[in-house]
Amino acid sequence: MKITSATIYPLSIPLIEPMKMSREMVVDAKTVLLCLSDEEGRTGWGEASVAPLMTGETLASLVGSIQYLVEQAKSWDWVEPKEFARDFAKILYGNASAKSCFEMALLDLFTQKQSLPLWRYLRQTNNLPDIENSTPIPLLRMLGGSFDKELADAKSFRSLGFRHWKIKIGSLSLKEDLQRVEILSNLLEGDVVSVDANGAMSLSDAIQFCESKEASKLAFAEQLIAADLSIEDFVLLKKRSPIPIGLDESIHGEPEIEEFIKAKALDGASLKLIKTGGVLPAFKAAQILLDKHLQMNLACKVAETSLSGAATASIGFAIGNVPWGFSMSNQYLQFDICDQPLVAKQGHLDASQLSANGIGVIPNTDRVKSAIAKGHTVIQC
Ligand SMILES: [Mg+2]
Repeated sequence: MKITSATIYPLSIPLIEPMKMSREMVVDAKTVLLCLSDEEGRTGWGEASVAPLMTGETLASLVGSIQYLVEQAKSWDWVEPKEFARDFAKILYGNASAKSCFEMALLDLFTQKQSLPLWRYLRQTNNLPDIENSTPIPLLRMLGGSFDKELADAKSFRSLGFRHWKIKIGSLSLKEDLQRVEILSNLLEGDVVSVDANGAMSLSDAIQFCESKEASKLAFAEQLIAADLSIEDFVLLKKRSPIPIGLDESIHGEPEIEEFIKAKALDGASLKLIKTGGVLPAFKAAQILLDKHLQMNLACKVAETSLSGAATASIGFAIGNVPWGFSMSNQYLQFDICDQPLVAKQGHLDASQLSANGIGVIPNTDRVKSAIAKGHTVIQC
């Protein structure tokens, strides 16, 4: 499979409402779409979003890395997806997000050529029996904004079938966060309710949070302390916490998963393609976690479009089990880039939405062009 041309689209898509994290306020999705054409006239699409505090990428740096990768790769023959990561490493060190974007577009082409939906290819290539349909994946809904808004959203989205929740914490005082968490946990009793501090808590506050009765109904607490703290701090937090500990910013791929499993410092992890370097490494990471009887959630960065959502969901449909839910972030966008965006049905994503060959989502080029980020242009390679 040869790449004959490539187009890179740096996008900015406004969120329906700003999303407050502990260390940043996200107002738009800064995301990059890549469209590859092969020698037989197919087109394949990839996507990766910027995450300055998670991967260190900005829109300009991500576009630069993708352009470099694609220009170098155009003369190559792309035959076996299992070799893609090794081949990318021969071109560019690190840069997991750019590699994820490129891998996604190559996989879209490859699985279209194989006449298979991506999720079914993932089963086939991992020696899992082929199935026509898979279990719906539970979608995880983030709660944010004013406390009244969080309560109203919790009630309205619960009535729509959502049962997995994430409460962003770490920007208020410990006492205020505990009060919010207790009220929301009681309101959503029986559901999978989690918190995420994006590393904003001190170790002592994190331990106090986990030991507090107000937090006792949580299904897990994600990345309470900063990823650059020592492994001993994570081990201590895990030892002291009566509630399960999830990690996100600390886990970029297989090496960290192995390290934290060995140290007994986690109960589960959040997997994002921009961290692992693509679908295939993320699938492997998910399998390692589940084989060790640990939990995982699948997540898009806030926010990515249906394209990245579909590629990430393919891992869940292939495995058939996403115990901590799937954070599909196109639900927070003012508009999506395809004519038929992925949508929640009873709080779940259904595999029937990804029944087309390839990734299963085809961007509408006019919509994509309408979302080019200010100060950026479409790049032809
Ligand atoms: Mg997180």
